[in-house]
Amino acid sequence: MSTFTQTRDERASTAKQKQSANPASYKAWVAKAAKQPMVLETVDLGPLGAEDVEVAVEHCGLCHSDLSVLNNDWGISQYPAILGHEVIGRVTALGPNAKGLAVGQRVGVGWNSGSCMHCHQCMSGSHHLCPQVQPTIVGHRGGFATHIRSHWAWAIPLPEKLNFADAGPLLCGGITVFAPLVMYAKPTERVGIIGIGGLGHMAVKFAHAYGCDVTAFTSSESKFDEAKGFGANHVASSKDSAAIRKLGGSFDLLISTVNVKLDWDAMIGTLAPNGRLHVVGAVLEPIPVAAFSLIGQQRSISGSPSGSPAAIETMLDFASRHNIAPQTEHFLMSNVNQAFARLESGKARYRIVLDADF
Ligand code: NAP
Ligand code: ZN
Repeated sequence: MSTFTQTRDERASTAKQKQSANPASYKAWVAKAAKQPMVLETVDLGPLGAEDVEVAVEHCGLCHSDLSVLNNDWGISQYPAILGHEVIGRVTALGPNAKGLAVGQRVGVGWNSGSCMHCHQCMSGSHHLCPQVQPTIVGHRGGFATHIRSHWAWAIPLPEKLNFADAGPLLCGGITVFAPLVMYAKPTERVGIIGIGGLGHMAVKFAHAYGCDVTAFTSSESKFDEAKGFGANHVASSKDSAAIRKLGGSFDLLISTVNVKLDWDAMIGTLAPNGRLHVVGAVLEPIPVAAFSLIGQQRSISGSPSGSPAAIETMLDFASRHNIAPQTEHFLMSNVNQAFARLESGKARYRIVLDADF
């Protein structure tokens, strides 16, 4: 039986449209330009789209992608930018064609806030691969704000049992590591998680609960014990090439969450026959690969972006059943700039969540 208290369909019958909030009451932390501190401003969200929902933000996780978009590391940022894409909040208004949600309901919004809903990818359930998918924080206003808007399909109902204050990071970081685990690993297999930060520590928890033998690769020895606490059976250095090479032929799946260059040749060498290196961390330098390190052992390298709305619901249900939550540090949203500095320092253990305090 589902742990959701009400399904989307049940909720639809109780859904009531409501007017959006008074425009003067929308406020957000706005990045005016790359690498600049965010400033609090009143924001005009305009009329609510027919298929859109409006959500009053309660909590929002801080993902490394927010920092990368603030700094325009990927060259895709659009300013002014409102960052924040691990949102938990309550629905405050529904467009006339919004489906399956009710005013007052608690939902989560992640990396994406919309997709075309009619292309082959959307029609086959892979909305996150839609050519027109709308990232929440690029050309759209994100969650470091009083309110956020999204297409109804991307406002995901939350299982009752979740701790809402800490659930935000599941909406981006959580689904990003859960999706490849479910796509590519069997519970009987050996999985390595590279980088034990926001994504990586959730990946260890998911892979452990899924039943895998889990190795955490970290560059911080101070994380060894904590990684074991998250469910890692083994820990290894992500920087020590000789130690990595000793693990040759071990892993069925490696999930890399780092955004830096590592000894990729040594990492690929740790893959078992048919093994896969799956990249979710946005490392900008190309990952060099020799054809023969793939051919002989029939290995592969792949990547993926976040996940579909249905995959997010499945992940939330799994997290709720297995009591999986990120380990968080809470900041008031008014301290958003200090929170970004803390993330940038690499000292956050392991995911920062901002609590709305407008
Ligand atoms: P994070 O919390 O900052 O964690 C990144 C981890 O990488 C760090 O904790 C650290 O782990 C490792 N690392 C950092 N610098 C390193 C260095 N110089 N050498 C070795 N390891 C280093 O970031 P996050 O929020 O988990 O995000 C990770 C990456 O995933 C980012 O690039 C982000 O943009 C990307 N991302 C992608 C998707 C997607 O859809 N594919 C979704 C969300 C995020 P250790 O201390 O354990 O070494
Ligand atoms: Zn993210």
